[in-house]
Amino acid sequence: MTGGPFDILFEPVRIGPVTARNRFYQVPHCSGMGHRYPEADFALREMKAEGGWAVVSTQETEIHESADLTPSNQGRLWADGDLDRFRGLTERIHAHGSLAAIQLAHGGLHAANRLTRIAPYAPSHALVDADDPIQARAMDREDIRAFRRWHRDAAVRARQAGFDIIYVYAGHDMTLLQHFLLARHNHRSDEYGGSFENRLRLFREVIDDTREAIGDRCALAVRLAVDELMGPDGLRHDHEGQDIVAALAEVPDLWDVNLSDWSNDSQTSRFSQEGYQEAYVRFVKPLTTRPVVGVGRFTSPDTMVRMVRQGVLDLIGAARPSIADPFLPNKIRDGQLDSLRECIGCNICVSGDNLATPMRCTQNPTLGEEARRGWHPERIPPLARAEPVLIVGGGPAGLEAAHALVRRGAPVVLADAAAEWGGRVAREARLPGLAAWGRVRDHRLQALRVAPQAELYLQSRLTSADVLAYGIGKVVLATGARWRTDGVGRAHRSPLPFLATGRTVSVDDLLDAPALALAGEVVVFDDDRYYMAGVLAERLAAAGASVTYVTPAPLVAAWTVNTLEQARIHRRLVEVGVRLVLSARLADRGPDSLTLACVHTGRTQTIPCDTLVPVTARLPVDGLWHDLSAQREAWADHGLSSVERIGDSLAPGTLAAAVHAGHAFARSL
Ligand code: ADP
Ligand code: SF4
Repeated sequence: MTGGPFDILFEPVRIGPVTARNRFYQVPHCSGMGHRYPEADFALREMKAEGGWAVVSTQETEIHESADLTPSNQGRLWADGDLDRFRGLTERIHAHGSLAAIQLAHGGLHAANRLTRIAPYAPSHALVDADDPIQARAMDREDIRAFRRWHRDAAVRARQAGFDIIYVYAGHDMTLLQHFLLARHNHRSDEYGGSFENRLRLFREVIDDTREAIGDRCALAVRLAVDELMGPDGLRHDHEGQDIVAALAEVPDLWDVNLSDWSNDSQTSRFSQEGYQEAYVRFVKPLTTRPVVGVGRFTSPDTMVRMVRQGVLDLIGAARPSIADPFLPNKIRDGQLDSLRECIGCNICVSGDNLATPMRCTQNPTLGEEARRGWHPERIPPLARAEPVLIVGGGPAGLEAAHALVRRGAPVVLADAAAEWGGRVAREARLPGLAAWGRVRDHRLQALRVAPQAELYLQSRLTSADVLAYGIGKVVLATGARWRTDGVGRAHRSPLPFLATGRTVSVDDLLDAPALALAGEVVVFDDDRYYMAGVLAERLAAAGASVTYVTPAPLVAAWTVNTLEQARIHRRLVEVGVRLVLSARLADRGPDSLTLACVHTGRTQTIPCDTLVPVTARLPVDGLWHDLSAQREAWADHGLSSVERIGDSLAPGTLAAAVHAGHAFARSL
């Protein structure tokens, strides 16, 4: 303790029989790695222990073959055979002085048991919550006894594997225990259904079973969703959410409280600010003497201190902030606030889990590569021979390449044609709700500005002659991409000549001119299916345009299902008055009209359209690459040995892909 402003965050916290060395608590979160890539998952968790998180939790871990979440990659502790693997994890976490926690889970009607083909379990007969055309069985008393036994057995295995904190989990509308608590899922008339006490019974019993199974060496944590943001249709923090905590106040050793479902728990920065769960969880501490952990995309140490001082939380819970910066606690402890890599709240990490692939992170390009490639987020091997590198383009790819190269000891010249750094991220951060995305630029620029071997030039559009004149051996082109205006995307694979009949404004025109407002009837055509079309439609409607959003997909912003934003984007567009046309492609155009065709039937409709904004595909800005390639025979005379394209200038993709490409380039030297 040094008497510093953040010392309170480094006080130890007693959790039943164990003690967390500080208040930084990595709550359970999925990684998309689970039982299929355990080595990758364990390396990711170990990194957090090394980075100073006092508690490091697993992802949800299936307790039994009837809790099978295939194809999702969760943890699995179905049988004793799974034990040894987890022992390897707890040892790695303990080696750094941290506590290992495990979130035992049975998904109830969320576990469709696609692999094991066991009829799913639920309090009452119900369709499973995936779209599978199968139902969960209403559990009879024997099923309930069996479930309790499986949970108890899994808790014993978890203790034997060396875990220090063992969870009983009722959250995210994804767990059998929560399904029993909720009246909309539990229609039983026996002692496990009906009244509040009856619906609470199984939860209470399983907590008692777990306590008995883990003995007095391990702490027992309860993870409870206290509100579902559904109003009277769901659990509310000021009704039964509160009643559950009051009824069980001193029963667990730790309360881990949050919002349900996952889209409410892991809200993106587009729809919520840091600390967005505070209003829902602050009732908990006054009801219990047990420590309380909660989340809310905490990256500001000041906010964390306030949470503790104002008695909202005892432990600062984090999933995403610990993904974006596994070393966040140590950096705060060591006063290295400038080097914090703050989560931008984009949920690209979540998309990895939703697509059953190992997670990736926009801010942390080493995430998921710890075991596969041996990448460490804070250490990068110095170059044996530190030759200079010229990087053209200061967007996410160029900035990350420069940042990582400087850390490897290379002198770097970074030039950008624009008047500001950041490329697309600078322009997109001005769109409604996306300001936090500017952190991708800020984190890297901050380090580059103080690096003596980095030369930074804005307003410097380089030609091939300029590049050759530099006389630098290695050149990286990170010149980005521009949005197409010819209609080519997924629904239309060839250009649409008829678009020329009316006025078209490109995405880049709108990004370059944040105040540009379009008059009359505007149609935003979304064949990109991610965030851009929705956010532009929102901006244009807010500026007074009459906007219609058209997409060939069956959903608004279809891919954002993976970032948990789809329903919110749909709602936002309706709220700002945007008209929606789904499952439609472009068929024809007049000066003030647009003809759309249903993607299924071909039936057409014509809508008014003074301006079309096509949000389809992008084309790399690769003129410089072609010019340089054409002069290859002159390279040697100018000392130029290699030219590489990275990021959007090679193949347009996500911000995460561009940052990763920049990092991978720097590591490849
Ligand atoms: P990425 O996502 O791959 O990093 P961006 O589009 O965000 O790509 O950034 C590309 C950057 O490259 C932009 O800031 C743009 O101004 C810059 N740029 C493009 N062509 C040149 C050039 N010839 N000289 C200097 N900068 C360039
Ligand atoms: Fe945060 Fe985005 Fe990284 Fe997830 S992917 S941790 S939301 S920056």
